[in-house]
Amino acid sequence: MSDLTPAKLQELESALLLRRQELQARIDPQLHRSDESDELVLTEQKVADDNAVIADVLNDTDLAELELDLAVLVEIDAALGRIKAGTYGICTACEEAIPLARLQAMPSAHFCIGCQAKSEERQGFPHSASL
Ligand SMILES: [Zn+2]
Repeated sequence: MSDLTPAKLQELESALLLRRQELQARIDPQLHRSDESDELVLTEQKVADDNAVIADVLNDTDLAELELDLAVLVEIDAALGRIKAGTYGICTACEEAIPLARLQAMPSAHFCIGCQAKSEERQGFPHSASL
């Protein structure tokens, strides 16, 4: 094992749980809203006829943020699952230990720096992994 002591692991788990709560608090009302807002959507659609571009941009931004939040939530749940399974802090691609500094900066990280860079290259992102 690396420099990931049980105390550090617990710290990271708390950080993940806290982040999870924040996300859930942001996501829940939005999901709730879209559940019961069929009428609201219809009204927005009418507004969109007059104001198509602006309405579209707003909706897409809301949706994009929600999707992003949900994606992060999934990552966090996966990380919490790895803590339970005892595989947390190990790169899921090459199985090398992920440096503690990287985990502290990004507790849901499941790739080491090298594999993160490779995966972003594959997805067409420029080099953005700094840790
Ligand atoms: Zn790796």
